[in-house]
Amino acid sequence: MRFDVFTLLPEVFPPYLDSSILQRARQRGLLDIHIHNIRDYAAGRHKVTDDVPYGGGGGMVMKPEPVFNAVESVLGPRPGIPLILLTPQGRVFDQRIAAELSKQPHLALVCGRYEGVDERIRQYLVTDEISIGDYVLTGGELPALVLIDALTRLLPDALGDPDGAADDSHASGLLEYPHFTRPPEFRGWCVPDILLSGDHAKIAQWRREQSLARTLQKRPDMLEKVELSGSERSFIEKLQGAA
Ligand code: SAM
Repeated sequence: MRFDVFTLLPEVFPPYLDSSILQRARQRGLLDIHIHNIRDYAAGRHKVTDDVPYGGGGGMVMKPEPVFNAVESVLGPRPGIPLILLTPQGRVFDQRIAAELSKQPHLALVCGRYEGVDERIRQYLVTDEISIGDYVLTGGELPALVLIDALTRLLPDALGDPDGAADDSHASGLLEYPHFTRPPEFRGWCVPDILLSGDHAKIAQWRREQSLARTLQKRPDMLEKVELSGSERSFIEKLQGAA
């Protein structure tokens, strides 16, 4: 999967992209990331990329010309790929959107700064707008990395464990079951016996029940949207009755 990222702060990206799973995915050719400095596409000796807002008010606004120039120079005038603006006004990113976008072979991401980008970038350049949550950050670089990270986990063969992403929280509409590792006893707190039993069918059933129980406890709203079997619904009702 290829990403072209347009940013005023390219230096933010390498430390994260050169670490762990993302680094391995890049080394193995699963992930091809190109970071473009919007300033390189600004005109004039001073390479100005921002200006004061029409109508007054504080803050600066990212000018349209450098962003259009950057995107069109790299991708051509009609790129034909999803061109995503990271903005707190976009559709709110979740695992469903991650799964949808991970099917694309090529995405472009535009990171805003200051008060944001000139509205004409939103109207006439980008094809999608994504927010990573209902709060405001200083720039779109962290949101772009969040998107790249979440999508990379979903690429076939990106994770050491091929089923790792399938069991993750939100992948199937539930939170994931709890994990334990060695030692079997720590400060008197023991790992549940079932996990040491070697009985894989029983472990799978225990994990499913734990998953249902903690979703009910922490995120009951998720249970309204997920498809469950009759016995799983009865299990939930039993837990609700006991509470
Ligand atoms: N004035 C803008 C508003 O109220 O909608 C916020 C601008 S913000 C300070 C600067 C840039 O950070 C945005 O253009 C966007 O690229 C990025 N950004 C901030 N919060 C974000 C979020 N929750 N999701 C995605 N991008 C965000």
